[in-house]
Amino acid sequence: MNRILILGAGTAGTMAANHLRGVMARDSWSITVVDQDDEHHYQPGYIFVPFWMKPDRVKKSRRNTFHDGIDFVEASVSLVHRDRREVELADGRTLPYDWLIIASGTRPDPTLVEGMGDGSLWGKKVHEFYTLDGSVALKSALEEFTSGRILVHISEMPIKCPVAPLEFAFLVEDHFRSKGIRHKVDISFVTPLDGAFTKPVASKELGGLLKDRSIRLAADFAVERIDNDEQKLISYDGRELPFDLLVTVPPNVGQQFIMDSGLGNDAGFVPVDKHTLRSLVDDRIFVLGDASDIPTSKAGSVAHFATEEFVDNFIAATEGKPLPNSFDGHANCFIESGRGQAMLLDFNYDTEPLLGTFPVPYAGPLSLLKPTRLNHLGKLAFEQIYWHMLLPGRPIPISSHMSMAGKRKPKE
Ligand SMILES: Cc1cc2nc3c(=O)[nH]c(=O)nc-3n(C[C@H](O)[C@H](O)[C@H](O)COP(=O)(O)OP(=O)(O)OC[C@H]3O[C@@H](n4cnc5c(N)ncnc54)[C@H](O)[C@@H]3O)c2cc1C
Repeated sequence: MNRILILGAGTAGTMAANHLRGVMARDSWSITVVDQDDEHHYQPGYIFVPFWMKPDRVKKSRRNTFHDGIDFVEASVSLVHRDRREVELADGRTLPYDWLIIASGTRPDPTLVEGMGDGSLWGKKVHEFYTLDGSVALKSALEEFTSGRILVHISEMPIKCPVAPLEFAFLVEDHFRSKGIRHKVDISFVTPLDGAFTKPVASKELGGLLKDRSIRLAADFAVERIDNDEQKLISYDGRELPFDLLVTVPPNVGQQFIMDSGLGNDAGFVPVDKHTLRSLVDDRIFVLGDASDIPTSKAGSVAHFATEEFVDNFIAATEGKPLPNSFDGHANCFIESGRGQAMLLDFNYDTEPLLGTFPVPYAGPLSLLKPTRLNHLGKLAFEQIYWHMLLPGRPIPISSHMSMAGKRKPKE
């Protein structure tokens, strides 16, 4: 029996297991997935939990997300021994493999900024929404907040879903507007980037929307520390931003076992060939989802498109053949923009997010980089698509390769 071992049963690991179970013969291939717990979270739901979504709605038992013929091991991974093709678990067990798929994602680490995770204001006036517990605690903080300065802050890049902090800024602005106290709340978006987003067209559109909503933009802000006594966010170049509520995205890093196994770069992400997702140092290892170092957004959509491209490559690899598919870095992300609307981004390694319509030229029906009601309904529908189409590995009518159809190139 050939053994496929998948580390991590989140978005990428679950999709990969289900796709592979459909194509790898059951009598000659076993598929085992390891995760540290049995709770699969729909992470895009974290953005809504501080406002209206019930926390239970984002969770499902992982066991219910796998097709038959997939073994699930609930345990924490502590080391990968590449030399003997074996994974060591924290409980002392070992799992041998012939082919390893790393899909262990990324995690927010608030201890990496001085005064953040270890500060007296953590969980009181300094909050995050990149974990379910964090989103729930933030809901309470928002309910108590009636006036003052809010900073929505990104500590450093890369982070998963780089648009999520912008979404939070737009949603929190809308929240206070609906409560009739917007005039008492000063909101700033604080980012290490030189604008609202990474690329020029998106940065201009998103920066324009921040301005329309009277949300201040503090760009190029490389955070040094949080002063808990003075309630200030302080940058390396000496800027100080006072706050009454700081909603931060802590640094996102790879998992400890990646670092301990010598598989990661400085931030704990695994270097791979960006077109095949195959490890640069070990042909028997592929990396899917946020755990790799590919230069596109860390996003569920990327995990999905990449996994679709990966399957044929994996089969070819097991047969010793050249890998047929080349992943282009395709990402497709809705951005909640408040007022019951959302924007949509569609881009890849080579093409920045552009204006236009999606997926059909002129007809859309979705609009790129413009807030519309239909985009918002698309974002809400995505939750059901995630659970019932993407995770089980069912086909959806969006190509894993980015298309230029409907996109408008900026004038030179
Ligand atoms: C607030 C927020 C909003 C988002 N919104 C969107 C969105 O609108 N659209 C979008 O496309 N993406 C969005 N994302 C990003 C998306 O959720 C992730 O990119 C996606 O889940 C990545 O999949 P993954 O499988 O790589 O990682 P994950 O889904 O995080 O899975 C990693 C798994 O590895 C397991 N694991 C880690 N370490 C170990 C260990 N040592 N032992 C055992 N198991 C381990 C974890 O328990 C976890 O289950 C959002 C994320 C957040 C936080």
